[in-house]
Amino acid sequence: MYTFNPGPSAVYPAVRQYLTDAFDEGWLSAPHRSEKVTSLVRQAVTDLKTKLNVPQDFTVLFTSSATECWEILAQSLTPRKSFHLYNGDFGEKWLKYAQALRPASTGVRFGLDELPDIAALPFSGEDTDLVCITQNETSTATQLREGFILNLYNRLGSALLAVDATSSLGGLNLKYIKADIWFASVQKCFGLPAGLGVLILSPRAVAQARTVNDRAHYNALPAMLSQILNFQTNYTPNVLGIYLLSRVLAEREPIKTVHQHLADRAQKLYDFFEQATPLQPLISNTEARSTTVVGLKGDAGTVEEIKRKALEAGLHLGNGYGSLKATTIRIANFPAVPDAAFEALVKFFAKEFPG
Ligand SMILES: *Cc1c(COP(=O)(O)O)cnc(C)c1O
Repeated sequence: MYTFNPGPSAVYPAVRQYLTDAFDEGWLSAPHRSEKVTSLVRQAVTDLKTKLNVPQDFTVLFTSSATECWEILAQSLTPRKSFHLYNGDFGEKWLKYAQALRPASTGVRFGLDELPDIAALPFSGEDTDLVCITQNETSTATQLREGFILNLYNRLGSALLAVDATSSLGGLNLKYIKADIWFASVQKCFGLPAGLGVLILSPRAVAQARTVNDRAHYNALPAMLSQILNFQTNYTPNVLGIYLLSRVLAEREPIKTVHQHLADRAQKLYDFFEQATPLQPLISNTEARSTTVVGLKGDAGTVEEIKRKALEAGLHLGNGYGSLKATTIRIANFPAVPDAAFEALVKFFAKEFPG
């Protein structure tokens, strides 16, 4: 059985061995302030920066999820309000989390095939603390490209740029230097079980967290930042998750190689589905299409039939999300999904739905 579900997604087969090793090597009851665990955390941070090309002067923090990152950013980096640009369910949820804590926060929704006009975005760097975007919107299978993020970064004023990269971080070669805050959880492009989030801060974001000086939450940034200086956390962290992350990173090829592989695979898939299949790419603008989550659309009956037949053939396709649930299919193009799975997928369509 192959799963193409975009989260929780396929885990690396090697995770089975890593779990046994974690047990045998005593990680499951290792005290989190011990040298054993702090050196593991140090190693995980070093490998993450090296393998993913994160600048050395950026800070890596561990959280429990991407959702928790939304809340941390509202609490610790948003004394006034944030501005959110979104086109799908995750971006919209982020806005709602922000508004629950900072009611003055606003957002603008853009179309699925649209590349938003940056000059026209209704925010001012004067009174906005955070500009928030979802680099890869998992629910709509869209992506904001590097050039877009760069142009947005250049019109921030004194605001910080925060990027939800939950379904691309670890898969794409992101230009970390062109934003202040990046975050993800490990059940997408890291090929790991859920329960760990990664939050990456630029020096500018760290300085801002010190200025805001939130002390009211257990995961307030100033406390997290002082603990991580010693590779520790305020609370007992997910040591197993960090251990698994360090094992996966140690085996990983450099991000440029991973990125190229995913880009080639995505291109092949889009080309295949543009030809004679009962499904079409959900996003027609090639500049707006996601590399890591391929969205396909069809009428509800066909989508239903394809999902059912695929499951019988050992292929678990991802459901559409939110309002797109009945008429779309999502295919995770994550590093842990093997090439063999995509070959099986193409064969399945060629056999069951010849054009
Ligand atoms: C999956 C996902 C989230 C939520 O991740 P959790 O680990 O469940 O908090 C947030 N944003 C995006 C873009 C996602 O794909």
